[in-house]
Amino acid sequence: MPDTALKVAAAATTAALLAGAWTYAALWPQSQLFGKVLVAGPSPNQIALTYDDGPNPGVTERLLEVLARHNVRATFFMIGRFVRQRPDLARAVAAAGHLIGNHTMTHPWLAWQSAARIREELTACNRALEDTLGIPIRFFRAPHGARRPYVLRTARALGLTPVQWNVTALDWNPLPAAQILANLQRGIAHNQRRHRASNLLLHDGGDQSLGQPRIPTVEATDQLLHIHKATSTTFVTPEDWA
Ligand SMILES: [Zn+2]
Repeated sequence: MPDTALKVAAAATTAALLAGAWTYAALWPQSQLFGKVLVAGPSPNQIALTYDDGPNPGVTERLLEVLARHNVRATFFMIGRFVRQRPDLARAVAAAGHLIGNHTMTHPWLAWQSAARIREELTACNRALEDTLGIPIRFFRAPHGARRPYVLRTARALGLTPVQWNVTALDWNPLPAAQILANLQRGIAHNQRRHRASNLLLHDGGDQSLGQPRIPTVEATDQLLHIHKATSTTFVTPEDWA
């Protein structure tokens, strides 16, 4: 191979490796390469239920009923524009004692956004939540988990701890409750074998609009709580791990 062709091939390989590393750092839920993110604590008996993309009328209320019946505290990462549309629902979640976090104003892929847009997404969501709830917001989850160092630095500057997850229900598109439950149980068992707590990513809403169908997520939550209340599991929030 001529010398220049070799150099081109080497450069292409390096570029591919760098692209791979960037993708891992930006998108792998538990990656710490672009800055520290909170995932889960070391106790295999702890589970955090976290719900993204609400508040969502018709679903969030039902979820609150299930959580109240089992006397379990959960975490809700809310989209600011939905909080502005349904402040009553956001207040109902807070009044029930759950932890509420920032999930940006409009749910963009932050890893690809300008610094100005990142700042605006985080601060506008914080404003929506703090205007509505009258309490400071301390936790942040990036939409799709996608970040770059500036996203995490901005969150920290606003006093927000970035939170990722280590189990996903895969319920951002509607799935039957049995499938959601199986996804959660498989992830929890995997974490227990590795002696760590489980941080479950679920969805009580969808980022496109209010009214997304997520009742199977509520049903899977009810079933999961029935199963785990009979064990030594304790249900926690990221506050317990911060
Ligand atoms: Zn989301």
